[in-house]
Amino acid sequence: MENIFRRAAMVLVFFCLLVHSNVYALEEDTLLRLDSFRASIEDMSEPELNLLLDSLFDAPNADPDLFAFIRLRADALHALSPKNQFAGGFSLYPGNRFYGVWDTQHIFPYSDSLYKSDTATHLDLSPTISGDFYFPFPGLVTSRYGWRDSAFHRGIDIDLNRGDSVHAAFTGMVRFAGRSGGFGNVVIVRHYNGLETVYAHLWKINVKPGDIVISGQLLGLGGSTGHSTGTHLHFEVRFRGVAINPEFFIDLENRTLLTFQVRLIRNKQGYGVRPENIVYHYVVRGDTPSKIAQRYGIALRDLKMWNGWTSSIRLRKGQAVRIQPPEITASR
Ligand SMILES: [Zn+2]
Repeated sequence: MENIFRRAAMVLVFFCLLVHSNVYALEEDTLLRLDSFRASIEDMSEPELNLLLDSLFDAPNADPDLFAFIRLRADALHALSPKNQFAGGFSLYPGNRFYGVWDTQHIFPYSDSLYKSDTATHLDLSPTISGDFYFPFPGLVTSRYGWRDSAFHRGIDIDLNRGDSVHAAFTGMVRFAGRSGGFGNVVIVRHYNGLETVYAHLWKINVKPGDIVISGQLLGLGGSTGHSTGTHLHFEVRFRGVAINPEFFIDLENRTLLTFQVRLIRNKQGYGVRPENIVYHYVVRGDTPSKIAQRYGIALRDLKMWNGWTSSIRLRKGQAVRIQPPEITASR
């Protein structure tokens, strides 16, 4: 018990120093130095260390050695825990090499620069990295991604009744769990494959930031909190804070992944998603050359060149359209 009080006091000291440092001009003696906290840090659990790191991210006057020491401690504890089997090499937070930021207070903390510096990224969606994909709730998709009544809908809506179980799509760590504006009660999970998934309008939340969740694990119960008409799950897939059409990854009819290995390619609309081992796209209703180019992150002129299209083209349903350069063949 005494231990808990000591830790609480220690966290309080940190917060006071943070507040102090934000309000007053910094002086050398307000520097958060490693030596004054070493003993307390050595006592902390992994979640406590993670919370501490979070709270220090915005501190302008923290000793770099302090960060390094906390990370080292967290690494050591994490290495001892058996639940790291999906991480594929250690990182403190899932997908950290794509982000470098772990923020449990803001739903979308990432700056534009993260997206702008991106060009093409390989994502591994195979079960060895992030568990077997699990469709978050097996209800009817009532609204898809894209323009809807003059507003852009950044996810899909899945019909459910209040109290229905909502599950994690992949294995990962809860980054945000709480109430946020129009989303109402919302959970955001960061996955080891680098994606983040968003589960909004929940009635009840069953997880907290820092929780490791296995794909298919219960995150909360569906509802209609926030800006919502009728009970449903608003589900988003994001990379580096930018929403991607879930249908680029997921076959909504069969509720399965379309493919395991993809390249995300930045374009004007966000990210195109190109399966690495699929050579042809088969035209469906509503497809146009520019829609296909956008979906797969291909420049329209390349799409035309790869398919030998010289003038305006009329697509037929079921027509095979090459979505890889000609040197890549469908041999396997
Ligand atoms: Zn929605």
